[in-house]
Amino acid sequence: MSSLDEILSFNKKFVLEKNYEEFITTKFPDKKIVILTCMDARLFELLPKAMNFKNGDVKMVKSAGAVINHPFGGIMRSLLVAVYELQAEEIYIIGHYDCGMSAIEPKKMLQKMIDRGISHDTINMLKYSGVDLNEWLRGFEDVHETVKHSVEMVRNHPLMIKDIPIHGLVIDPATGRLDVCC
Ligand SMILES: [Zn+2]
Repeated sequence: MSSLDEILSFNKKFVLEKNYEEFITTKFPDKKIVILTCMDARLFELLPKAMNFKNGDVKMVKSAGAVINHPFGGIMRSLLVAVYELQAEEIYIIGHYDCGMSAIEPKKMLQKMIDRGISHDTINMLKYSGVDLNEWLRGFEDVHETVKHSVEMVRNHPLMIKDIPIHGLVIDPATGRLDVCC
């Protein structure tokens, strides 16, 4: 069942009653910070509250596991846009304990795709085209190592400002406690 009808009916009321007023701000982050974190549902409200951020304070980029899986992919491009076009002057990369990405087993996920109707032919065709699906879907074992790797990737990116501060942190999705990683 689709949730769209429910969302649209709530939305109509939200706009009509001007419930947006408390969120009015600009596209520029007031605290001049861009955050890359995980799409985990537990962090949706917890992370901003645990860091004392409200609407308009920061730019937030999300990916599964807070991973940057390509130096010229969409995540890295978002960080560059935040820094060069949207006045972010500091970068935070925040992984979390108990991340869904740490449990991903590519072979099992590929089997789920097949179970949901993706054909073996499609998967084989991608393999023959040079897409390493096992590598692409691979999760991680150590969140601290992953965050460090992402921090290094951003720090050494040829298009990133050399002296921009980049912080690596890990958050507890239950308590919101932050551990500084690098
Ligand atoms: Zn996660």
